[in-house]
Amino acid sequence: MKSATELQQQLTQTIKAKRAIEKKLQQATNVLQIAHKKIQTLNKLLQEQNSESRYRSMMENMELGIMEVDNNEVITKAYPMFCKMIGYTEKELIGKNAKTLFVPEGLNTYYAEQTSNRVQGHTSTYEMQILNKQGEKIWVIISGVPIFDTAGKTIGSIGIHYDITARKKLEQDLAQAKEIAEQAQKAEQQFLANMSHEIRTPLNSIVGMSSLLKSANTEQERITYIEIIEKAAYILQGLITNILDFSKIEANKVELIEKPFEIRKLLQNLKTTFAARFQSRNIDCTLHIDEALPEYVIGDEIKLTQILFNLLGNAEKFTEKGSIQLHATLQSIHKKIATIQLIVQDTGIGIPADKHAYIFEKFKQIPGETNAKNALRGVGLGLAITKKLTQLMKGSIAMESVVDKGTKFIINIPFQIHTNNLTTQQTQNNTTLPQLKLLIAEDSEMNRTYLSILLKKWDINFVFTENGKEAIDALIKDEYDAILMDVQMPIMDGFEATEHIRSLPDKKHASIPIIGLSASALSEYKKRGEQCGMNDYLTKPFTPLQLKEMLLNTVKKITTNTPSTTFTDEDEFQQYFGGNYEYAAKTFEVFIQDILPQINTLQNVYDTTGINALQQLIHKIKPLFQMIGFKKIKDKLDALELNCNKTITDKRVKTDIAKIVTEVTKAKPIIENRYQYLLNTLKQPIK
Ligand code: ADP
Repeated sequence: MKSATELQQQLTQTIKAKRAIEKKLQQATNVLQIAHKKIQTLNKLLQEQNSESRYRSMMENMELGIMEVDNNEVITKAYPMFCKMIGYTEKELIGKNAKTLFVPEGLNTYYAEQTSNRVQGHTSTYEMQILNKQGEKIWVIISGVPIFDTAGKTIGSIGIHYDITARKKLEQDLAQAKEIAEQAQKAEQQFLANMSHEIRTPLNSIVGMSSLLKSANTEQERITYIEIIEKAAYILQGLITNILDFSKIEANKVELIEKPFEIRKLLQNLKTTFAARFQSRNIDCTLHIDEALPEYVIGDEIKLTQILFNLLGNAEKFTEKGSIQLHATLQSIHKKIATIQLIVQDTGIGIPADKHAYIFEKFKQIPGETNAKNALRGVGLGLAITKKLTQLMKGSIAMESVVDKGTKFIINIPFQIHTNNLTTQQTQNNTTLPQLKLLIAEDSEMNRTYLSILLKKWDINFVFTENGKEAIDALIKDEYDAILMDVQMPIMDGFEATEHIRSLPDKKHASIPIIGLSASALSEYKKRGEQCGMNDYLTKPFTPLQLKEMLLNTVKKITTNTPSTTFTDEDEFQQYFGGNYEYAAKTFEVFIQDILPQINTLQNVYDTTGINALQQLIHKIKPLFQMIGFKKIKDKLDALELNCNKTITDKRVKTDIAKIVTEVTKAKPIIENRYQYLLNTLKQPIK
């Protein structure tokens, strides 16, 4: 898991840094020990023979700063090394009080204790901070030696100073490094504790309820248990999805899947979902959509849903009464890019001001009673994911919140505006699938059961195998339209099997469409699938709709591989009909019966009724050319229609019409072929 690994790496780095510091510290300590020894030697010398000339040169070499004071702490002498250490000249020091000059506030008592020792004739060595000329605190070891007069009376003292600021800095760094390491360790432990708690809670209820289910006596009891199991499984799934999502985002493995979608519809659907959830509670759920919002935009619909779902989900968790509002407004349009502002606002418990700074960080939750008693509490990944997804979409997120008043999340995301109508493009639950025969390689019995329920419902023929090897054998024996290939299987996995199939001598076998199935959403798996020759890849668990879409895509690929029915613009075709074969067939029928014959009347209409009538006719017939995949012809019709407004010559009209007629004549067999294909597909039993 990425986050734990990341913490581990952080920890390792900190430990490394700590070791380096410890090494330096050891070196510094060695130096210090030497210094202490030097100081002791010097002390002895000083006590034995009070002769300045003998020890002076020695002191200078030992990097020890020496200063002499009288019994009142008045400086009587300061040697060059000390002056260098403290930043003053000797002149500036003489006659000044050492205590007032060097001792920082708060250390007076400590200093007094140390000096009183000396006045009583003892030597003492201690560490303390003193102030230099710049007013900065430097750390020194001070060794104080009393000075005696000839009668043996103490007349002052000599202070020997050794600068240990660098060592102290190392010590502080070490303490800091230790702290960071400990924090990282704590965060990791906290995360693991949260995780296991969060995972264990729903898991326990699944296990417990399953065993109760076995001995349940009434239908009502069974339903209750199943509902609890379902809810727990849902929580578990959400949790694991969050963890996986987060690690994927952190590892930069998430890609945007951008395509046109209806943003208003998305918002409306979200509102409906949440309003239903709030029905039993005292909460209003409202949606406000700006009139100016574009109808269709290009973007990652699923990730946008996830962002809003997280925010609405949080609003739901932390709001007891009042309202939850979703606002969508158009902020700006620039070069076909619409920046849309989405606001999720609640009247819930709010977030304390001191927590605002880290609310988008991972694993951060606000402790509190209301929060803790909520069974659906996550592990503090929701907002971190939301922020990362928003940034991935080149957007921004901000939050405003007042405790007991409510919270407002504000998102701005730029979307490209899409101008075409998409109503027929999206796969609906009731979209029909053509007859297919599938070969399935899947070792998990549970997954086989799920697949068989769906495929039976859609009247699709299928054969199960339990590993890659069995799948290859089955493929050679019989004919199939496509293979659903699980990736992780015993004996031979899906990647290996796909590679093997792609190298089969029979071209028909080798080119069969293969859809990889895997529980891993990592893009590496997907890439590996592509490299092995898989045509598509579906992540488990998948919804029935996702599987259906995948199969429709495969059908599209199978059919477009047939040369006689190839479209000039396959994308256009898909965009208009999606997988809806009935609708497509109807359009083709209208086209062949009504539109095609009118092409041949263009010249006649112009000759007999004039340019305006020609313009009207073109205007009426042109859109369908684009829908059936001949955008180039539509463009030509567009140009002619536009030219009708200008002073176009008769000759030009004639040549333009002639060109269009030639193009349409060429396209006609392809169009008829496609229509035939659609009819054949529809003849198969469909549901
Ligand atoms: P989780 O996945 O645990 O819900 P999130 O990252 O989504 O974590 O949220 C983190 C914390 O932020 C929540 O535990 C909660 O304390 C606080 N929070 C998020 N949204 C709201 C909100 N709408 N109202 C009050 N508190 C919120």
